[in-house]
Amino acid sequence: MRLRGGPGRLWHRGRRGLRGKRAWVWAAALLGALAVFPFLASAYQVALGLALLADVALASAWTLFSGPTRYLSLAAAAFYGVGAYTTALTGGAAAWPLPIVAGAAAGALLSLPVGLLALRLRGPYFAILTFGLSELVRHTVIWYESNVTGTVGRVLVLSLERRTLYWGLLVIAVLAVASAILLRRSRWGLALAAIGGDEERAEVLGVRPTGVKVAVFALSAALMGATGAAIAPRWTYIDPHIAFNPLISFQVIIMALLGGVGRPAGPVVGALTLGLLSEVFLLQFRYVYMIVLGAVLILVVLGLPHGIMGWRAEERTEDLVRRLRWALARRIPRRFAMRRQHQLFIGGEWQDAPEGRTFPDVNPATGETFTRIPAADAATARRAVEAAERARTEWGELQPAARAGIVLRAAQIWERRREDLERMLTTETGAVRAKAGFEVGYCTDLIRQAASLPYQATGEVAPSNVSGKINYFMRKPVGVVSVVSPWNFPYILTLRAVAPALALGNAVVLKPSEETPLAGGLLVGEVFEEAGVPPGVLNVITCARADVQAVGDVMVTHPAVGVVSFTGSTATGRALAEKAGRHLKRIVLELGGKSPLIVLEDADLDLAVSAAAFGGFFHQGQICMAATRILVEHSLADALASQLVDKLGTLKMGDPSDPQTSIGPITSPTQLEKIRAHVDDAVAKGAKVLAGGHARGPYFEPTLLTGVTPDMRCYHEETFGPVVALTSVKNADEAVRLANDTSYGLSAAIITGDPKRGMALAERIQSGIVHVNDSTVHDEPHAPFGGIKGSGLGRHGGRAAIEAFTEIRWVSLQTERRHYPFDR
Ligand code: NAD
Repeated sequence: MRLRGGPGRLWHRGRRGLRGKRAWVWAAALLGALAVFPFLASAYQVALGLALLADVALASAWTLFSGPTRYLSLAAAAFYGVGAYTTALTGGAAAWPLPIVAGAAAGALLSLPVGLLALRLRGPYFAILTFGLSELVRHTVIWYESNVTGTVGRVLVLSLERRTLYWGLLVIAVLAVASAILLRRSRWGLALAAIGGDEERAEVLGVRPTGVKVAVFALSAALMGATGAAIAPRWTYIDPHIAFNPLISFQVIIMALLGGVGRPAGPVVGALTLGLLSEVFLLQFRYVYMIVLGAVLILVVLGLPHGIMGWRAEERTEDLVRRLRWALARRIPRRFAMRRQHQLFIGGEWQDAPEGRTFPDVNPATGETFTRIPAADAATARRAVEAAERARTEWGELQPAARAGIVLRAAQIWERRREDLERMLTTETGAVRAKAGFEVGYCTDLIRQAASLPYQATGEVAPSNVSGKINYFMRKPVGVVSVVSPWNFPYILTLRAVAPALALGNAVVLKPSEETPLAGGLLVGEVFEEAGVPPGVLNVITCARADVQAVGDVMVTHPAVGVVSFTGSTATGRALAEKAGRHLKRIVLELGGKSPLIVLEDADLDLAVSAAAFGGFFHQGQICMAATRILVEHSLADALASQLVDKLGTLKMGDPSDPQTSIGPITSPTQLEKIRAHVDDAVAKGAKVLAGGHARGPYFEPTLLTGVTPDMRCYHEETFGPVVALTSVKNADEAVRLANDTSYGLSAAIITGDPKRGMALAERIQSGIVHVNDSTVHDEPHAPFGGIKGSGLGRHGGRAAIEAFTEIRWVSLQTERRHYPFDR
């Protein structure tokens, strides 16, 4: 790996040094140094340390709630002030450190009514409410002190020794930073971050947003209250004007935003930077300081939405302004409600399913229902097709540049939402991190490639046998395209139809699999909506298993539908093709596979093992192109088998969100049952298990079988799981014969040291795709992807998409008076 130079290199090393066990050693050393600091430092330095610790505690505590949620809570002053005031009230009565605990409790208690009041409010409304509240409390206290008790302030009975105070604050600061780290790493942290953008995404993470909001708000207020309570003894005379000083809110927010609220270190860096500046400059240049502070806040919010720590070039001002415009135009009508149920996307409107019917969306790794999805019926599907029918003409007539622009914008949004999209894939399908990252990244290229299609839908000017006639053969959008997608690669398999169909001027009705209604459907709807697709041009309907047939019927047979793009099992594809045939609809079918990986005796063994492991077991083998049959020449068979078994032993199986995991859960219990049944059947009929063979909870071990014969189910049927059959063959001819002994014909691969021989063999394999010296699993956005025999009909990808989603129209122009037989 190439090492970066200069400060980048230092940063890189620093990060490396801060991982795992080393991080604990560093943290302990830092804490030790901070703890002994008061013994070594001068009184001024300890005072400065005190102030900085308070800043760090406040900024981190504020960020716990406001930062990740992107809520701008100005309540910091209220909570801080309540803590300070509590110390003033209880300082004489209770022994140290009870006043701090009381301050923390008071902050948390005050935050509860605010939190509950603000639960359903979006960021700006929330900020106004909390700021109003802190001002109200401040003025009430001042009024009470001056008019009722006659004291403007209170003499603190408690006067703490500087070092005790320092250590008290150190504990609170450490608690605040530790909470930020723990929170960020937990599901709650992810949920909180999601709440700031879109509450439904928090639900997707399996957390109840309201509970998380109130709890974290109270935690952050408690830490702020404790900081206020601890710092109060620094003053000998506590003035409510100071205790409830709203300037503290602004300072805290600026500190946290300056450092960056996306990482726990951000507020710490911001607090130390600005804390130092304020301590040194505040007393000297108070007013200049305020002006500078205000300017910094404005610049930070506009120019660095992710603060110093999260600065990324592509997310600078322009992007922010566009996002704000989008939010204003589309989100505000649903203004006060933060919470959005998942809804169907029809005619540009998000709407509920009839009678509010829903079905569960389940996380395969945990078995939990993490959210509920609207369940459309046939009538809903009809409305969606009609909305598409209304929108198709105007969209189809739009200039290519306009359509390409919107599709390109979708690619940008896709890239921006990358982390979200990856997380969703793991939650909804059990995709391991590598698979999720690959799929989301691939889709950016796929959408970009689709954006080039409006310019590629060219026609021909052809000669004519009639004098004076000019023939034009031109490409026109088909009108309405129905897209039905499966669950295994929901983003790719949805987008490879939706993006080109839209780019080429069609309106689309999309129905994702009921296993992946969010990844395969509703999220795609959100991205294209934000990109500016006009109402009705993309419609997304989700439905429960029980309604699939009725909804599917409408999507195939409705008179307005021009083309059906279906990816899924061969059985379903065949049923849909029959219906399409009866209604004379064009249908593109991408179906199942039973792909062979042929390893010839001159192959690079290391490459063969890698290609077999990836091809057979990536995404638990739930890939249409999976290399489920290894056909290896006799002389290499033993070595390949033993090295592949060793390799499988190194693949970690388990929690898909762990970056080390290679094998995640099987996406549905039905699928798991089918895999188990195939393996049991093979074993019962005499197959030998070289590796794996068992289910473990929702997981199935990577399984390598030998001795698989035609009487076994897994010889002919698609297992669609991590099960590979290894067969030793006499020679290349036998390999080709066995490779073709299947009703499928999607992908195949040949590993050989002789590329020419590989290419010659490739031509003898009955398959839509053959890769020489690669795995069976490979796709590119511009390549014609599809199978023969039972694997499908038609192609997706590149120019094939033009064939699929446009029709050719013959228009001629007669430039001379033509003479017909009836003319005299
Ligand atoms: P599936 O056939 O059960 O479902 C695919 C889609 O069809 C889903 O959206 C489902 O809701 C819908 N559907 C089911 N019955 C329907 C009906 N009667 N009318 C209309 N729609 C209906 O397949 P799956 O289990 O989701 O996916 C796995 C299959 O997909 C495997 O066979 C795999 O090989 C195949 N696949 C093929 C490709 C390819 O490009 N060739 C890619 C991925 C997956």
